[in-house]
Amino acid sequence: MVNRTVGARRTVTSDAPMISTVTTPVTSGVHHVEGQAAGWTILTDGAPRRGAAWTLVDAGYPGYAAAVRGSAEALGLRLADLAAVLVTHGHVDHVGGVAELVGGRDVPVLTGEAEVAHLHGEVTENTGPRDLLPRLHRHGMLPWVVHVSRHGATAHPRLPAAGGAPDGVPLDLPGRPVPLTTPGHTSGHTCWHLPDAGALITGDALVTGHALSRDTGPQVLPGFFHADRAGMLASLDLIGDSGAGTLLPGHGAPWHGPAAEAAEQAARTAQSHL
Ligand SMILES: [Zn+2]
Repeated sequence: MVNRTVGARRTVTSDAPMISTVTTPVTSGVHHVEGQAAGWTILTDGAPRRGAAWTLVDAGYPGYAAAVRGSAEALGLRLADLAAVLVTHGHVDHVGGVAELVGGRDVPVLTGEAEVAHLHGEVTENTGPRDLLPRLHRHGMLPWVVHVSRHGATAHPRLPAAGGAPDGVPLDLPGRPVPLTTPGHTSGHTCWHLPDAGALITGDALVTGHALSRDTGPQVLPGFFHADRAGMLASLDLIGDSGAGTLLPGHGAPWHGPAAEAAEQAARTAQSHL
């Protein structure tokens, strides 16, 4: 299995002692952070510097907020300059940190239009104890369950002020992100395309690693995580068609190579990741 990493990787010590993070600079204005059990991406126009506005894409579990903040501060950024939070989908490991990071300030929280109802709590598409308990014997499951439970995985955060961004329309935010609807993992799962960087933030539509997986490189999450497995597989084609040369997943390290190659590789894992 091909596994290509991007740029110089360095470990950043956050002020949340229980969560390890690895920050990878993709371009001067795109930094992917692989958190212990969930990742996020920081976007700036040009290199990060004190006082620069920044966009956060995904925010980890509720207990990851300090680690997210620490990863931005390690780049010289301040929480007060957070311009917007974009999320790929409404699962707790991607929206959990949003409320604490926004802290009641007037910071827009956006996802794709088809995912807004999930963020509002009008629909739920979560994996729960019923899915996990029969699988506790699986590779990596028990320590993962302990870790994520300690960081708020059983919460159901609602973000009633979240808005929807229309598919394919660039946002006037640091990084110029463009939403790409990729339904399947959730009904409105949204990747974020960064054409200037040649990168695609893939969330959970395509990942490169997970505590429950023995593989590294492009792959899909285990089947019980997806609301619509057939839709998830179809969305791999959308990722492949994006033309991106770097993929920034919600779980695992960045991957460098043609998106079409990554999508094919991920589709091949679907049988073994059920
Ligand atoms: Zn996830």
